[in-house]
Amino acid sequence: MSTTVPERLARNRFVLDEEESHIVIDQEACRATGAGKALIAVCPAGVYREQDGEILADYAACLECGTCLAVAPPGALTWRYPRGGFGVSFREG
Ligand code: SF4
Repeated sequence: MSTTVPERLARNRFVLDEEESHIVIDQEACRATGAGKALIAVCPAGVYREQDGEILADYAACLECGTCLAVAPPGALTWRYPRGGFGVSFREG
């Protein structure tokens, strides 16, 4: 039986670092470069959204794929892996 992408993603386990986000957005750079639309478009986990003219990152759902880093102009985004013990654990089956 085949499964959908959302069903597969739901198997993953996330340990949220409530003290520190591993994603920091420079709002000014995002506005100046229009990076927000690209971030929203490419993230497979729907981490990014726009609200009241700002780009927000719901980092708890990050799959740590690095795609946003590939499209973000310099200075618009600071991204690093979550601290040890936090972040995503992928599960099969
Ligand atoms: Fe989204 Fe991947 Fe960037 Fe995480 S690393 S915010 S999942 S594009």
